[in-house]
Amino acid sequence: MQQSEAMYDVAVVGQGIAGSLLSWFLKQAGMKVLVIDESHMGSSSAVAAGIVNPVTGKSFVPSWNIGLFLPFALKTYREMESNLGISLVKEVNIIRSLYSIKDENTWFARSDDPVVGMYIRDRADVSEFEGKVRPPYSYGETQGTFQVDLALLMENLKIKWLSSGNYLESKFDHNSLEFRDEGFYYQGIKFRKVVFCEGYRAKENKFFPGLGMGPSKGEVLLVKIPGANFRKMYKDQIFIVHQYNDIYWVGSGYQWNAPDDLPTPAIRQKLESQLSAILTIPYEVVGHKAAIRPTMHTRRPIFAEHSEYKGMYLFNGLGTKGTSIGPLAACQISDYLAGVSDFPPLFAALSRIQG
Ligand SMILES: Cc1cc2nc3c(=O)[nH]c(=O)nc-3n(C[C@H](O)[C@H](O)[C@H](O)COP(=O)(O)OP(=O)(O)OC[C@H]3O[C@@H](n4cnc5c(N)ncnc54)[C@H](O)[C@@H]3O)c2cc1C
Repeated sequence: MQQSEAMYDVAVVGQGIAGSLLSWFLKQAGMKVLVIDESHMGSSSAVAAGIVNPVTGKSFVPSWNIGLFLPFALKTYREMESNLGISLVKEVNIIRSLYSIKDENTWFARSDDPVVGMYIRDRADVSEFEGKVRPPYSYGETQGTFQVDLALLMENLKIKWLSSGNYLESKFDHNSLEFRDEGFYYQGIKFRKVVFCEGYRAKENKFFPGLGMGPSKGEVLLVKIPGANFRKMYKDQIFIVHQYNDIYWVGSGYQWNAPDDLPTPAIRQKLESQLSAILTIPYEVVGHKAAIRPTMHTRRPIFAEHSEYKGMYLFNGLGTKGTSIGPLAACQISDYLAGVSDFPPLFAALSRIQG
């Protein structure tokens, strides 16, 4: 079949942050793209806070490749903002509770790392939290960090793709996909390539069984804290992140191999008791959400080509860090699919590491 006969160059199945970013870069590369998504059903991106945090975990470990991912992510989201005419990014520091002198020493020792050092402030300024939280032993503060409104990004990109005929709002049925003449046929639509970006629901994808996924569920409260006026993100056992007016995102914890992606009373209670341990001012819970992160056992993203069906791919495994890893990963995959570069260097390097 001639390429000119194909209706679309690439179909992207799933429009979480992975599918959103991939379709964005493919369109920029001049490809004709069809995005297929089932109303963001079970989307992890729609529940995420969209925080980009260069130091994570109890030992403040530098996030993988953060020096590479963070500047590229910020540039990408800023470009999307100006193209879509919306505000997506809040550049805000993270205030981090330190519980002991050992914690404090570890935190400041991280400043010696030439990359991480750029994101750690010499002294934390916690004035906006004074009198409103119970102070821990001391604080650290990151700078150059930011938060992205992923739900707003997805919603606006969906509207844009719908208006240009690049969107099909539907559940993708894998059994209806046919492979003929080096192209794909799906319910009367033709495309040369297909990329599955289905988040944790990739476990239902019969073309890529045994991916090595270890999905982790997270739950979130939306909380009204009148008069708090927190603008920096606050990280203790949980994150407190300003959304709008007096509303804050509070979460989120990890639950492995959860049976479903529904909010549970037990986790709500746990989040409330963690929040009560932090705040000295009143709050009111106004919402409760849950979702499952597409986490791999390797803790690394994955881009794979089907061994038999040429042109069939999977992009997944953004885990806990879709906001920071997603843009560069999607850009490299797009370059590869558009034929302007070899196999995405990020994933080629990963396959070498994983042997
Ligand atoms: C509580 C919580 C907090 C988080 N906080 C952060 C954070 O602060 N920073 C950060 O970087 N990351 C965070 N994450 C992780 C982040 O959400 C993920 O890395 C990222 O969202 C994964 O994006 P994705 O596009 O791969 O998957 P998803 O967002 O899950 O998207 C998958 C999409 O595929 C669609 N789909 C699946 N199957 C089909 C089908 N058969 N047909 C049609 N459509 C289909 C779904 O409808 C969905 O829209 C958090 C996650 C959770 C759960």
